[in-house]
Amino acid sequence: MSLGKKRRVVLLGSTGSIGLSTLKVAENLPEEIEIIALAACSSVGVLAEQVRATGVKHVAIYDPSKESELRALLPSGVKIHIGPEGLSEIASLAEADIVLIAIVGTAGLQPALAAIEAGKDLAIASKEILVMAGEIITERAAEKGVRILPVDSEHNAIFQCLEGHRGPNSEISRLILTASGGPFRETPAADLWDVSPEMALKHPTWEMGPKITIDSATLFNKGLEMIEARWLFGIGMGRIEAVIHPQSIVHSMVEFTDGSVLAQLSRTDMGFPIQYALTYPARKKGALKPLDFARLSKLEFSAPRLEDFPALTLAREAGLMGGTLPAVFNAANEIAVDAFRSGKIRFPQIWECVAEVMRKHGTIQSPSLDTILRADTDARQAAQAFCEK
Ligand code: MG
Repeated sequence: MSLGKKRRVVLLGSTGSIGLSTLKVAENLPEEIEIIALAACSSVGVLAEQVRATGVKHVAIYDPSKESELRALLPSGVKIHIGPEGLSEIASLAEADIVLIAIVGTAGLQPALAAIEAGKDLAIASKEILVMAGEIITERAAEKGVRILPVDSEHNAIFQCLEGHRGPNSEISRLILTASGGPFRETPAADLWDVSPEMALKHPTWEMGPKITIDSATLFNKGLEMIEARWLFGIGMGRIEAVIHPQSIVHSMVEFTDGSVLAQLSRTDMGFPIQYALTYPARKKGALKPLDFARLSKLEFSAPRLEDFPALTLAREAGLMGGTLPAVFNAANEIAVDAFRSGKIRFPQIWECVAEVMRKHGTIQSPSLDTILRADTDARQAAQAFCEK
């Protein structure tokens, strides 16, 4: 990454919630950030508007059937890249400095690898990339000398807390991820069976897409983040913990061996981690508002209810075992969330489904990407079978 000049950013997943926040950050820092390519899954109308607003010359659409519809909406001179390969093409554009990946699901994996091969820095918002293929991605990134910058608020917080730390990782005693606890953090276990999709889709502090909102309610989101943290920071799973912090002001913490804890605080706005990932290592004055401490009434912390919300225990198991198991953990959860949203299973069965699919999986260590993708497919089928019965 070149310093002291405009960052040229490829944005994959521009029509989703992170994508929209990224465009807002870029708009407020025109001297620092230039968006040079956009990609979306299928929302051609919004995508075409974004192309006009940013003036990009490259755009990718994941769903090939949307090509002609998109072409009709675009000004001439814009190159359209199509399908999964189209995403990888724009992720390796010669003029790009950094690729921000904010695509839900596994579609971000190949473009992430393409970006690394092309020597681009990565800003990662899609959890699946590191959960499924953390070993491959971090090894390859180290070989190619590219940076992986976390966009998730928790990992970005830890990244910031670790910045002044020049010592070995053995001086870090714990990474402490904060979790809002979701809307049911105080709901009695028996009542969790009566939780409807509508109830689970109301998040108390963050406004996010539907999949991640349900994941926040089950704590699977935090489980996925624990596994991601292991790869991002090279810390053993046993030193990664989660704590409930309903206000979502402390975004995560690092505890060192001397007992000191560093934390990063800000308002609950994804603009903070996005901006820092894109201007790193510089801090720039954009449009983000700082905290008003006089108006903060309190910051609370409590232990997660591991028995009633087993997602963290399942995540630790998956992270400790490694190999293909984290991909299985992730895939089974994705299917279970869909089944819950369409009324096929009840809320606590999301955990039951993932636990059963994990139990039946024979983990393969140091898997290739193909092996990971096969485990992902098999886990989806097994989860589907669980949800249908
Ligand atoms: Mg997060």
